[in-house]
Order: sequence, then C-alpha cells, then structure tokens
Amino acid sequence: MASLSFHGVCKQFGETSVLSDVNVEIADGEFAVLVGPSGCGKSTLLRMVAGLETVTSGDVLIGGKRVNGLRPKDRDIAMVFQNYALYPHMSVEQNMSFGLRMLGHDRAATRRRVADAAAILELEPLLKRLPRDLSGGQRQRVAMGRAIVREPEIFLFDEPLSNLDAQLRTQMRIEIKSLQRRLGTTSVYVTHDQVEAMTMADRIVVMRKGRVEQVGTPMELFDRPATRFVAGFIGSPA
Ligand code: ADP
Ligand code: MG
Repeated sequence: MASLSFHGVCKQFGETSVLSDVNVEIADGEFAVLVGPSGCGKSTLLRMVAGLETVTSGDVLIGGKRVNGLRPKDRDIAMVFQNYALYPHMSVEQNMSFGLRMLGHDRAATRRRVADAAAILELEPLLKRLPRDLSGGQRQRVAMGRAIVREPEIFLFDEPLSNLDAQLRTQMRIEIKSLQRRLGTTSVYVTHDQVEAMTMADRIVVMRKGRVEQVGTPMELFDRPATRFVAGFIGSPA
C-alpha cells in the first residue's frame, strides 16, 4: 500500500489544456472517488497514474516517489476499466493468470494468487469458462480478480460499473467497497454517479474543466459545498 499524490499536475494535448494545476493527496489505504462531468479529465488523471499518459508538468508520486517517467509495468498499480478489457480467447483462470506470468511470477505463486482471488470473488465455478459465457456482473468480477491478483499498491477504477444494470450496480458497489476495506489498498475510483460517490468514498474529489473544485468527505461536501457546482453535483441545498 502507498499514498498517492498529485503536485501541480498539468496535461495538454497539443494546444488544449485538459488538466490544470491538480493538487491532491490520497492517503495510504484511502478510497478516493473522483467525480465530475464527462470530459473534465478524470480518465486522463487516472491514466497518468497508470503511466498510460505522459505528465505535461507537475509530479505524480506513489508512496512519496516520483513516478512520472516510469513505464506502466514498473508501476505497482492495477486498473479496472468500464469495458472489462478481458481477453476473449482466454478462460477466466487464464485471464487472471496472464498478467502475473508476464510480470515474471512463477507457476506456483500464480496459481496460489488466482485461487485466493477466485475464492474471495466466488469465481471458482467459472474458472474454465470464456468471457463470452459470463454475465455482465461475472465479467466485472473477473476484471476485479485480475486486479487483485496483482496485489498492487494502488487500485484505479474507471467507471467500472457503468455497463451494469441498476440492481447489479448496487451489489457490486457493496462488493468492491468491502473488498477494498479487507485488502486496505489505496484506491481511486472514477464515476459520474453521485450515489456511488456518496456511498463509497472516504473522500470525494470534485473536478470541473480540468481543475479540482473541492476535496472532502461526503458529509463535508454535502454540508459545506464550496461552490454552486459542487452543491449541484452532490445534491445538497446551496
Ligand atoms: P473524463 O474521463 O472526465 O470524461 P477524459 O480524461 O477522458 O475526461 O478527457 C478529458 C479531455 O481530454 C476531453 O476533452 C477529451 O476529449 C480530451 N482527450 C482525452 N484523451 C485525448 C487524446 N489522446 N488526445 C486529445 N484529446 C484527448
Ligand atoms: Mg472517462
């Protein structure tokens, strides 16, 4: 586990400024939820932590160490995407094992970690199946499994539940949250769902147009929204 810090982080795509002077400190073990309208830069910020996007200026620190120049595979993070990104031709078990084998874990260690994750996520009966033979909720659980076998310092979630129906979303929300409590892994969870943010977050980071508008616990944002925008988003009377 590790803290995650953004110090004056800016991102430009060509002439277009997408993130401006982002300063956020996420504590070791904290579950931070990143919210804001579509296009405000949430995914870009996560992708920078993962090393999938360069940092134009400023620093991203994991456990106090600057990671700006590190390749994705040299960062101790795991990311869960909206579209699951499972390998269609691989079984559930292979989907969970593949990344570990690529990272150089031996067969025995890989098997043990996959078995542990499958037990936690109740995936044991599904290990031999292909993704196409799974429901949406099961696929999402495999994507989670693939993240937790990494035993990373940081989980990054990019709208992981937005393809699921409302009932399954509620269930997965509870599952992800209890899993994170149990593992204690520092997490950044992107959503545009206000209910997800209010129920899952230790602290919420509200973003707007590439800037951080306010950071606080759900109650702080509800009771003392700094701006009309935050009040509107959180649904408190402003
Ligand atoms: P969000 O996840 O909050 O919806 P994104 O981080 O995906 O927002 O995008 C922020 C802005 O950056 C958007 O205006 C988007 O069009 C732009 N953007 C994202 N990726 C690229 C890219 N590779 N090249 C140019 N513009 C991009
Ligand atoms: Mg996005």
